[in-house]
Amino acid sequence: MTDLFTTIVRSPVAQKVGVPQPTRLRRYEPGMPLCEGPVLVAGGGRFAEAITSWLGTVGVPTVTAAGDAADAAAKVGAVVLDLSAATDPSDLDALRLLGAPAVKALKRNGRVVVIGTDPDTLSEVAEVATQRALEGVVRSIGKELRAGATANLVLAQGEARDGVRSAVEFFLSGRSAYVDGQVVRVDETTSGDADALRPLAGKVAVVTGAARGIGAEIARVMARDGATVVAVDIPAAGDALAAVANEVKGTALQLDVTSDDAGSRIVEHATSRHGGLDIVVHNAGITRDKLLVNMDEDRWRSVIDVNLRSVLRMNEAILGEGGLAAGGRIVCVASIAGIAGNRGQTNYGASKAGVIGLVSALSRQVADRGITVNAVAPGFIETEMTARIPFATREIGRRMNSLQQGGHPKDVAETIAWFAQPGAAAVTGQVVRVCGQSLLGA
Ligand code: NAD
Repeated sequence: MTDLFTTIVRSPVAQKVGVPQPTRLRRYEPGMPLCEGPVLVAGGGRFAEAITSWLGTVGVPTVTAAGDAADAAAKVGAVVLDLSAATDPSDLDALRLLGAPAVKALKRNGRVVVIGTDPDTLSEVAEVATQRALEGVVRSIGKELRAGATANLVLAQGEARDGVRSAVEFFLSGRSAYVDGQVVRVDETTSGDADALRPLAGKVAVVTGAARGIGAEIARVMARDGATVVAVDIPAAGDALAAVANEVKGTALQLDVTSDDAGSRIVEHATSRHGGLDIVVHNAGITRDKLLVNMDEDRWRSVIDVNLRSVLRMNEAILGEGGLAAGGRIVCVASIAGIAGNRGQTNYGASKAGVIGLVSALSRQVADRGITVNAVAPGFIETEMTARIPFATREIGRRMNSLQQGGHPKDVAETIAWFAQPGAAAVTGQVVRVCGQSLLGA
């Protein structure tokens, strides 16, 4: 979906008179190279060697900063800086020495990925401070980069090789086109290999709110990646739901997620029709905006019920006997309104912040079953929901981010599909904002 403003600024007349153009983001399509041009791998941490050899196996050339950093950095598509071994603030100089020339030479839609050590696993105060500093640097680099380039941070616990590889791959790829200034923690869980083109092959995925918008796109991306999709939505959206289910060669399940038996019906449908349940995406959501002083009971309750209580209730059945398989995935859809708050959205902000709490608590509870629980927090995404926002507010929401444009439903779907990959087994309890590094709640 291209908005009117973007159509106007991209028009030949606007281009001729030099109106600044939002960069066309390089979004993932099956078969495209991981990133454009060689990757500079530097920093000397404990993952750099493994990352270099893995990039070689997937056909991405690498350069090192052994000689002149500026030479090494010439025309790179991405830079991976492994600072996981940094223990003292003086070690951070490497970021400036290696990062500055690389950032300068970065191609359009380039990538900066920094690898650090999760400060929560450290006890020395100077080490914790040094590793925590990486967050500030990466978020600031994200705000300095232009032309569709992004900067993100992977924080590793111990020897989290598989987790680091999966997160670095995601951040280098076009799957993370609208993910900027984010921090992802990875643990030491190991994972097997998956088919690069169809990483979800053999998996059964349920997507709620799949009749349109972000949910329909999640269904498409999951099916593209090999999953069998059960598309869920309310009976009133039955025709649109059937169309999505047919398009992705999956099945449709009409239900209201707030009904008492929603969770058990999902489990029953997935197991009886498709032989199991591996992935659940809680995407269904509503807004009923009003300032708190004018908030009636119905607006308050309906938003809390659809966006939060239903997820808690469905999870009881989904995680019960005969439900989600060991090694399964639960992915929730939060919102930056649940992080930063939003005027007129006390009900929505509460529900989405609650989802973030749910993810944090539940991920710990089900870790011993190899189940991961994560959330995406979309920023401004071009859908029917955001098309209803008044023009001026909409334009502000759309532009106030480092990438200076709204995201696409596909951007949210790609992050969810990454959480669902077998390779992301080491990623749990995380909230990744898909917001182009929105200034809201930054
Ligand atoms: P949308 O309104 O276009 O689609 C939501 C879908 O959920 C609809 O098909 C609707 O019928 C379904 N749904 C609503 N209530 C339901 C119920 N009780 N049972 C079953 N299905 C139900 O919204 P969207 O923009 O695609 O948003 C999808 C998710 O992303 C929501 O959770 C939303 O809060 C979140 N989100 C969206 C944005 C954005 O910019 N669009 C930003 C942040 C978060």
